Amino acid sequence: MPIVSLQGVTKTYPPTARDSAPVIAVDDVSLDIAQGDVFGIIGYSGAGKSTLVRLINALEPTTSGRLIVDGVDLTTLTERELRRVRSGIGMIFQQFNLFSAKTVRANIAYPLTLAGWAKADIEARVTELLAFVGLSDKAKAFPEQLSGGQKQRVGIARALATRPAILLADEATSALDPQTTHEVLELLARVNREQGVTIVVITHEMDVIQTLATKVAVMEGGRVVEQGEVFEVFSNP
Ligand code: ADP
Ligand code: ADP
Repeated sequence: MPIVSLQGVTKTYPPTARDSAPVIAVDDVSLDIAQGDVFGIIGYSGAGKSTLVRLINALEPTTSGRLIVDGVDLTTLTERELRRVRSGIGMIFQQFNLFSAKTVRANIAYPLTLAGWAKADIEARVTELLAFVGLSDKAKAFPEQLSGGQKQRVGIARALATRPAILLADEATSALDPQTTHEVLELLARVNREQGVTIVVITHEMDVIQTLATKVAVMEGGRVVEQGEVFEVFSNP
């Protein structure tokens, strides 16, 4: 059974002006993401990628269709149940979204504190994560003292802290230079390979998909216009 399954999912927003039509941000999308996949979603700005991510992360309800994450149909859940689903999904972002007033260690500890972990368990888990992302020597640093690549490694460590089954990467390398992008993509590949985390990569950059993903869905105007193995979708006829 796929870990994420969308079946005819549509998301519309109300008209932004009185005489305009509703915005169809995601339009009848069906796709299956298997456990352990690195699945890319590519498209230009406005294609509906971020909306799709918010639906999968249970941050917003779908307008219609079925959306199943880790065996649970999100369209039937209460807000309380949705919060539990959300805790099984890690997120990383283009602008990293670190807390600037917290140290690296405290940033990574944050979701564990929220989840009510015991102090000693948090210490041990954060130490392990710092080593995994290669930042043990930066535990006491603040985000502003880090390079972009280091900040994203903190973001990855934080996203993985509670051992989620799924990691959503939303334009996670778009603010980074090519060399740093390569390092972050290598780390994400390790997360997938060594920890079995299913990774969903949202990007407008074909290189990112070709480096990291095995499967891809191409979005345009809210629709998935093509999907399949990366080498098939991007092969030149
Ligand atoms: P992408 O991430 O691919 O750039 P988005 O999902 O952000 O695309 O946007 C898809 C479409 O939905 C765009 O036309 C956008 O303006 C619209 N949209 C996104 N979020 C909202 C919202 N909260 N309210 C109204 N329209 C929205
Ligand atoms: P807000 O709604 O103000 O963004 P949240 O409590 O949702 O606040 O998030 C707090 C911080 O944790 C933010 O910096 C956000 O980017 C980050 N965050 C939110 N969801 C996740 C997640 N699933 N994994 C990792 N970090 C997250």
